[in-house]
Amino acid sequence: MDVLWAPWRSKYISEASKKKDDSCIFCDFPKSTDDKEHLIVYRGKFNFVILNAYPYNPGHIMVVPYRHVSSIELLSDEEALELFSIVKRAIKILRKVYSPDGFNLGINIGRVAGAGIDQHVHVHIVPRWNGDANFMPVIGGIKVLPELLEDTFNKLYKEFNNEDEAFDR
Ligand SMILES: [Zn+2]
Repeated sequence: MDVLWAPWRSKYISEASKKKDDSCIFCDFPKSTDDKEHLIVYRGKFNFVILNAYPYNPGHIMVVPYRHVSSIELLSDEEALELFSIVKRAIKILRKVYSPDGFNLGINIGRVAGAGIDQHVHVHIVPRWNGDANFMPVIGGIKVLPELLEDTFNKLYKEFNNEDEAFDR
């Protein structure tokens, strides 16, 4: 797992360390109304979906509770249920949009486990393709991605906010 999670981890830590200790992007970003600027593709009642700004692969998203808690056992049952319901829907949407061969789901709890932002729990969803580590090499720490974040945002925003596709609850 270290290899998989490493590419964004170092960047997140350096980004996060530039901010003041009491600020948290997962608390600050949803307070803004400009979801495109902050790469928020979906807002639920208790959780939101945001693109990873340093994606491991195209379609790498995170499902994040609005509430600033450091671990999943601190979520209420209704927060946790909606979180997993959104994860389900995200997998369905990513399959439709990107046709990946598989997924990694990851929750890093605590800095020792690799959480870049360890005070605000979040679920990583990373689509995987056979051989993806080969066709997207890491060069000088910068991953070469075949898709711009803006394109990812537009595709996923449309799917997540499609009124016809009701949640399976
Ligand atoms: Zn927070």
